Amino acid sequence: MKAEIIAVGTEILLGQIVNTNATFLSEELASLGIDVYYQSVVGDNRERLENLVAVAEKRSDLIIICGGLGPTEDDLTKQVVAQHVGQTLVRDEAGYQNLLAFFKKRNRKMTTNNLLQTLVFKDGQALPNTTGLAVGIFFQDKLGTAYLLLPGPPNELNPMFVNEAIPLLKHNFPQEDFFVSRVLRFFGIGESQLVTELSDLIEKQTNPTIAPYAKTHEVTLRLTVKTRDKKIGIQQLDFLENQIQKRVGHYFYGYGDENSLAQVVVNLLKKQNKTVTAAESLTAGAFQATLGAISGVSEVFPGGFVTYSPETKASFLNIEPVFLEKYGTVSRECVEKMAGQAQKLAHTDFALAFSGVAGPDPLEGHSVGTVWIALADSEKIKSECYHFSRGRNDIRQNAVMTGLNMLRRELLS
Ligand code: ATP
Repeated sequence: MKAEIIAVGTEILLGQIVNTNATFLSEELASLGIDVYYQSVVGDNRERLENLVAVAEKRSDLIIICGGLGPTEDDLTKQVVAQHVGQTLVRDEAGYQNLLAFFKKRNRKMTTNNLLQTLVFKDGQALPNTTGLAVGIFFQDKLGTAYLLLPGPPNELNPMFVNEAIPLLKHNFPQEDFFVSRVLRFFGIGESQLVTELSDLIEKQTNPTIAPYAKTHEVTLRLTVKTRDKKIGIQQLDFLENQIQKRVGHYFYGYGDENSLAQVVVNLLKKQNKTVTAAESLTAGAFQATLGAISGVSEVFPGGFVTYSPETKASFLNIEPVFLEKYGTVSRECVEKMAGQAQKLAHTDFALAFSGVAGPDPLEGHSVGTVWIALADSEKIKSECYHFSRGRNDIRQNAVMTGLNMLRRELLS
């Protein structure tokens, strides 16, 4: 079973958008045990698309084409593939009703070109679009080659693939082998160190495989096993993960692509019924904004302080100006005072405070990247000095992640 993915869109060729649809589809197909042999991108051009479909037909059993199902002149995918496989285009009634309802609800006039989005192949299967208007198409020709036409916008393509296409593919192309993956997330260790610690495991990997991936200020490892039995696959992953955890478990903080450090911390706070606030100098609210991105955070985060200047440190947090003058704002004393005051004023279980030098110039004699972070609860205050490198926003982002990790460790201690 050989699959290939064709993304249609001049915007992708111009570098204006990233072809995330191919990444998503490849990953999904891998987990179904379907091998993707080719990925390509073609502009909104009839002749080049026709040529590419003709090539794909010769070498692939499943051809997934995404994009170009819209109502405008440059949306050619359906017309080109229909001609290639000798199908006429007919209206999909459910898609048509969806289109009418869409315009009625918004009280907008529908233009006739919108009808193009509801056309499907006469002998194909229409795939409903629950988040948009363009209907998808699944079609298998007499020789068994399958064509799957999906809309370009990821928020339409993803649910259509998962809810409509996967059941069809499983039914039409049952696979003996499939993949099971697990993502491990690490903070506080660089990719090169992680890979060095695991070098022998990585060198001898066959099945399962280990794929390291460096993200901003963190590293993930994707463990993937090809199996015929899910239970055995999971056991193989457990065994491998155990070996990894023994070596670098100190840096491990969670599982999954979506489960960020902030999400993990918010989950722990919720579970323990604890709250957190922050007093932020160099991060200027970035820590609080990171928490704010997690849904349901209001249960554990009532609000906090952005105290960028000495004046706001004094007025918002009631810190005596003489104290700040004596110790300086980039100091253990200052950051501990900020955390202690924030915790008292916001009546939370924890408070984090951040003060340091984001650059580009040194401050109070401290070099760029010097960052003090303090964590206070009602009984004690801990603080740590870090020296982060790279540019201004990297330093600030690293401070946020490090603060989250300090809190995570405290919650687990
Ligand atoms: P529409 O009805 O919105 O026109 P369509 O199926 O015709 O949908 P395109 O016009 O090709 O799709 O693309 C619409 C938008 O979808 C693009 O502007 C882009 O934001 C997104 N998109 C398209 N292709 C991709 C891709 N391969 N990866 C990520 N995003 C994409």
